[in-house]
Amino acid sequence: QFTVGVLALQGAVSEHLQQIEKLGAKAVAVKNCAQLNEIDAIVLPGGESTAIGKLMRNSGFIDAIRDFSQQEKPIFGTCAGMILLAKHIEGGEPSHLGLMDIVVQRNAFGRQVESFQASLSVQDWDQPFPAVFIRAPYITRFNESAVEKLAEFEGNVVLAKQGHLLACAFHPELTADLRIMRLFLEMIKSGCR
Ligand code: GLN
Repeated sequence: QFTVGVLALQGAVSEHLQQIEKLGAKAVAVKNCAQLNEIDAIVLPGGESTAIGKLMRNSGFIDAIRDFSQQEKPIFGTCAGMILLAKHIEGGEPSHLGLMDIVVQRNAFGRQVESFQASLSVQDWDQPFPAVFIRAPYITRFNESAVEKLAEFEGNVVLAKQGHLLACAFHPELTADLRIMRLFLEMIKSGCR
């Protein structure tokens, strides 16, 4: 049985924990760096990336999660979590973890667009995924030889994978559909770590 952590500094934590447990893995709310030694993979939840980034910097998580990634342990960033993973943020704002070879635009659907739901077609899946976007970012550019595009919405990439890293612009934990979390758990099982 795998143990999957959810970074619990700020943001949508409990819904991720519930999805992980529904899929039969052990879920842990990660509040300090030492807990990284007890988990096989980590989810970086949605929330506010500037706030989470600051908390991560203050508590040593930036270096600790970079080290975690160095061991090829899977990391899944959703929404703000995707921004935390990105190598670059449009507009010149400094990056946070800078692990994934993507460039992201924050609040990319316009600040006035609070939230919306879209039916997303995901590569290799028969049924569309009900994606909930909340002040969401999207990927504007990515390294095509390293990053695999798994879904786009209106021409913008919103779900992508790079080796042991998975990122999505929306909130899969806010729907009853467990397929994206299952995809992440499969990455852990298949040993890309
Ligand atoms: N707009 C937020 C940010 O830039 C992300 C929103 C979210 O995680 N739902 O950090």
